[in-house]
Amino acid sequence: RLAYVNHAFVPLDKAAVHVEDRGFQFADGIYEVCAVLNGQLLDWPLHLDRWTRNLSALLIPAPMSAAALTLVARRLIALNGYKDALLYIQVTRGAARRDHPIPADAQPTLVMTVRRFDFAARVPQQAVGVKVTSVTDQRWGRCDIKTVALLPNVLAKQTARLAGSFEAWFVSNDGVVAEGGSTNAWIVDAAGTVITHPLSARILPGIMRASLLRLAHAAQIKVEERPFTLAEAQGAAEAFLTSTTAPCLGIVEIDGVKVGSGKPGPVTRRLGELLWAEIERQTGF
Ligand code: PLP
Repeated sequence: RLAYVNHAFVPLDKAAVHVEDRGFQFADGIYEVCAVLNGQLLDWPLHLDRWTRNLSALLIPAPMSAAALTLVARRLIALNGYKDALLYIQVTRGAARRDHPIPADAQPTLVMTVRRFDFAARVPQQAVGVKVTSVTDQRWGRCDIKTVALLPNVLAKQTARLAGSFEAWFVSNDGVVAEGGSTNAWIVDAAGTVITHPLSARILPGIMRASLLRLAHAAQIKVEERPFTLAEAQGAAEAFLTSTTAPCLGIVEIDGVKVGSGKPGPVTRRLGELLWAEIERQTGF
């Protein structure tokens, strides 16, 4: 396996960054995860946009142009020979003597890795759905930036795993469900309206979230972008989650409370079909 580190393709087990890299010492960096299906990058322009926005939000200069990044990403995927994979891109502010303020002369560190990923395994999982466990949202005030500071997410995911759940849902003090540990959160009310938290500093603007909203509008499925509570979700007709690694997964249980019929519902299934049709259209998967 090959990785790309600071302008070179290197064997993954030899790939390394400086011990004083600010990503390592301060979580001073951002990342992207993009799906590769049938050798094609899914929703790549949307990932590039988010990558650019995240870099400017943290005042990190882009390590290369978007066009160059695209060439490197494609080359790395081809060199590894994977058809279905996840591309991971990380940019940190770079290596510098440890001191909190932004160093004047640091060169950003760019790391890209790719690993095999079995998207087909999602199909049987989609048929049965998954469970979620709620946790208190203790994250910072800029959850819209995709930073590598993921400790709250790590701990939330571990809580979920120990509870036998696929995902953790971040719930704030007022009971509002923001999103999952690595997924966006959705419910469907009794009238079939699809509801998800509006874009704000409380959630990550998921690429799959954006795709699903676009497809739902085109299919004239009613959508409301508004906050919903944990209690509302537990009493909803359906619930589901979206992300690059789990395009549209029904949620059948929230904190031990059965959602709807206890199986992925019809609106979730329809949205899943629309998403997979779009994935097939883009990549031929
Ligand atoms: N929310 C959080 C906190 C995430 O970390 C992620 C993805 O990693 C998502 C939502 C889903 O985003 P995307 O659809 O771009 O994968």
